[in-house]
Amino acid sequence: KAKSLGRGSFSYYSNDLSKRAAERLDMEVRLRRAMQQGLLEVHYQPQVEITTGQIIGAEALVRWHDEERGYIPPDQFIPLAEQSELIVKLGDWVLEQVCRQGKAWLDQGYPELQLAVNLSPGQMRSNDLVTRIAEIVNRTGYPARLLELELTEGALMHDPEVATQRLTELRELGICLALDDFGTGYSSLAYLKRFPLSVLKIDKSFVRGLPVDSDDCAISRTVVAMGHSLGMSVLAEGVETEQQLKYLQGLGCDIYQGFLCSPALPEQSFIELLRAGENGANQPC
Ligand code: C2E
Ligand code: MG
Ligand code: MG
Ligand code: MG
Repeated sequence: KAKSLGRGSFSYYSNDLSKRAAERLDMEVRLRRAMQQGLLEVHYQPQVEITTGQIIGAEALVRWHDEERGYIPPDQFIPLAEQSELIVKLGDWVLEQVCRQGKAWLDQGYPELQLAVNLSPGQMRSNDLVTRIAEIVNRTGYPARLLELELTEGALMHDPEVATQRLTELRELGICLALDDFGTGYSSLAYLKRFPLSVLKIDKSFVRGLPVDSDDCAISRTVVAMGHSLGMSVLAEGVETEQQLKYLQGLGCDIYQGFLCSPALPEQSFIELLRAGENGANQPC
């Protein structure tokens, strides 16, 4: 088809491709530089126990402000980092920040929080993953039982045998494991049963339609019931309204995360929110 459009079209098409490749390369160079110069940040989004309204943990989300291009969302640069060994460096860096911060908060006397860090498929494929994680946890002194790693179905199903092995070793270190974006991938229930997971995170695409969309209601109800019968806690992502929260509460869902409580915040603002909750008077979430 390209041929019938003539030479002009073809070269236009290939220019477009090389333009995209050049943009990718430019972004990769910027990302490497940002990492070296310490321009990445970790923000924390509260995770709230539904029955009590208490903040019991937080998900760490990486943030990148490029001087020229402004805020670049992780959905844009994580997939890029995934294509090289950069993801391993980035992943180690995030984990180290979180463990250090978590340890500092404990030392300052804040209550114990479960801190969750995303682990991408590229990290899952690296052979010394467990050794490196153990090393970071030991070096920072953050208790492994307060660390949670979030994995997507894609990270697990790429090679379920290897994943089972790695997850078992992480679990033996005391680290908790969560299945992220549940329902958007293609994991088989047979495997779900085999992985040593503690938390099932209902993807926000299913939370959005609650309590109006009957399909979303059916899916959420089923995921909560299934998670519980497999002995897992269930967390709903992307909760934005009181009505969504009420519905999830009715299902017996354990934890929620979403703009209704707060977006991901810089460490200082996160701690302020946590303290506002401790004072009791103005329960934030
Ligand atoms: P995720 O792990 O599923 O993280 C949840 C995403 O939902 C975050 O987007 C969060 O800001 C957003 N979110 C939270 N509450 C709400 C809400 O009420 N409504 C809506 N519409 N969105 C909400 P974010 O920070 O842009 O991150 C996107 C994805 O990028 C993450 O999805 C995760 O897959 C990846 N990511 C972020 N940080 C890291 C990281 O440090 N390492 C790795 N490997 N991946 C990361
Ligand atoms: Mg996540
Ligand atoms: Mg998610
Ligand atoms: Mg996601």
